[in-house]
Parts: sequence; structure tokens; C-alpha cells
Amino acid sequence: MDVKSAYIHIPFCVRICTYCDFNKYYIQNQPVDTYIDCLIKEMENSEVRELETVFVGGGTPTALNMQQLDRLLKAITSIFTIKGEFSFEANPDELTLEKVQLLKDYGVNRLSMGVQTFKPELLDILGRTHKTEDIYQSVENARSVGIESISLDLMYHLPKQTLEDFKDSLERALAMDIDHISSYGLILEPKTQFYNMYRKGQLQVPNEDIGEEMYEYLLERMSKSEMHQYEISNFGKRNHESEHNKVYWKNEGYYGFGAGASGYVNGERYNNVNPVNHYIKKIENNERPLLDSTFPTQTEQMEEEMFLGLRMNKGVSKQRFNEKFDQPIEQVYGQTIKDLISKDLLFEKDGYIAMTERGKVIGNTVFESFLLNV
Ligand code: SF4
Repeated sequence: MDVKSAYIHIPFCVRICTYCDFNKYYIQNQPVDTYIDCLIKEMENSEVRELETVFVGGGTPTALNMQQLDRLLKAITSIFTIKGEFSFEANPDELTLEKVQLLKDYGVNRLSMGVQTFKPELLDILGRTHKTEDIYQSVENARSVGIESISLDLMYHLPKQTLEDFKDSLERALAMDIDHISSYGLILEPKTQFYNMYRKGQLQVPNEDIGEEMYEYLLERMSKSEMHQYEISNFGKRNHESEHNKVYWKNEGYYGFGAGASGYVNGERYNNVNPVNHYIKKIENNERPLLDSTFPTQTEQMEEEMFLGLRMNKGVSKQRFNEKFDQPIEQVYGQTIKDLISKDLLFEKDGYIAMTERGKVIGNTVFESFLLNV
């Protein structure tokens, strides 16, 4: 498998959001400079030098100071030749003109901004550090230095969020003529502040129906915008789809660098150790910073091909399935596909099997049908 993508993890944040279960740490008193040294060493030790897509995520990469960012960007661009998309995750209040200019100077061409909502009360509930005006300012900063593609993340199904609130955030994003929107419903994850509040009865989450109504509204509104849907939660203008994320959905390989990063290389799915200090120790001892790894069986790979591929509007390519697994998709999933088509949850077009609008709303139920070992 020719691997041409890499994910680089910066696990630091200036404040911890109430809903967040990502691998992240409050930045104060963290060994950030040593972490960057180790990350550089891990990247240097890899066998890859040419990449099509690079995604620097977190945590929040823009939580790094100018000197740290400069060192990281210099290292990434001297170790790798990046031929295509070079993406950075950013928080609106951290994307100063100075920082975004630095990103641009090193060739970053795509920003994924954690906006979540434009409503001040909801930003507070989420524990975000930015204010509504920071969203406008950061987009202006990014445009002024010529970043080619700007994506905003928006959340729905939030505590105290009404359908009108969600509509308003969406309209504000569309009015900014943004290139790409990712929109995800809140999932209450264990070990988050939200989860604890919910268990103590201090947090009311709107019921499932409201979440579905918001998602249906999202689909309808986006279908009338310049952005087309290409994945369950992602919408982009022409030539602004996330090429890096498509690597995941197409079930292709990618490197993962940094604490808690995951990768999929030469048939091995691996996770790096999470705690920053463990990661640093392993790298300093010249060990691979591995937490665990598996080599998915052919059956598991076929399931993954379906779960991931069906997320995309285009769906799963029958020809690719055949080439990859040396058997036609009908031989493995013929009856399942037939049943789901008859229930209006799937359709077949131009050699692809894809989900209908109805299928997308209840995506998990559709995915479960493709489990082979149940
Ligand atoms: S900024 Fe992002 S990674 Fe950091 S705590 Fe908030 S949601 Fe989590």
C-alpha cells in the first residue's frame, strides 16, 4: 500500500471544552518544546518523504506560540515534500494575523476552524475560548494572507440550542462565503465535563428527534447553497473537499505522528501512546511510541470499506471492492444490499453503492447491517 498522507497531533489546548473527549491536555506546564523535539524525531524516523496530504490537528495546533509553530512548520516542510493539501486546525481566537501569515509562508493551504456556533451563550456552555467576533476576524485574517480553503466546524444538538439557533449559525457561516463546512451533532462522551453534568442531572440535552430535525435542516439548506454534500457531515465548494479526510473514508493508508495519533500503514492499524510524558519517554529511548496495533483480517477490512465508504455521497466503488478483495461485492453483501435498497436506505448508481438521504439520517443502523461476524 502506497501511503501518501500523514496526520500530525498537537495535544495541547488553552482551555478544555466541556464536551471534548479528544486526546488533549491543558497547555500550561506541559513540556511543549520537548514534545515538538520528539514529534520531529518521530517524523524523521519514518520512511516516508513525499506526501499528498498533511493534516495537523489536535488539541489545537494554534495553541503553540510563534516560535514553537515556526519550529514545527520548518521541520514538517523540510522532512516532507507536500504535494497537495496542507491543513491546519485552528481556534478562531488564536488565529492572529501573525500566526496565519506564518502558516501561509510555510505552505499551509487549508484551515479547519473550530467555530461550533456563533451564539455567545452556547460558546460559553461549550467552554470555548473564542467570541463571535473572533470568528469574523480570523476568517478575515486567513483571507488577507491568501489561505486557499477555509472550513468551519459547526455543532448541532447542543444543550439549550434551538433549531433557530442552529439555523442562525449556519446562515452566518454561509453569508461569509466560506469554502467548506463540517457539521456534527453532539455526542455525550464519558469522561467529559458534559457527561458528568448530565449524570448529575445538571445538563439537559435536546431529545434525538430535535437532533434529527437539525440534521435534516442542514441537508436541505446546504442543498440550496454553493457547497455540495460529499460526506455525511461534510459540505464543500468545488475543489474544496477535504482531500485528507477522503483518505480515511476511502479506507486508504496514512501515517499518524504524535501522542495518541493513529495510523494505517502496510495493513497495520496502530495507535501511539496517549500521555505526553509516555510518548516523550519512548521517543527519547529510541523506541516506537506504540500503544497498540492490529492487522485487520480480510473480513474486517471489508466491513471497514463499507462503513467508511458509505459515509461519502458517492459511496463504495464496486470495482475497487473487487480489486481490493478479489471478489465481487455482491458475493459478500448481495442480500444485505438488496434488502437495504428495498427499504430506501441504499441505492446503486454508476458502479457505486451509496446511502439515500433517509439512510444518512439513520446511518448507524445501515452500517451495522454490514457487520459480517455477528
Ligand atoms: S479546543 Fe478542541 S481539542 Fe481542545 S478542548 Fe476544545 S474541542 Fe477539545
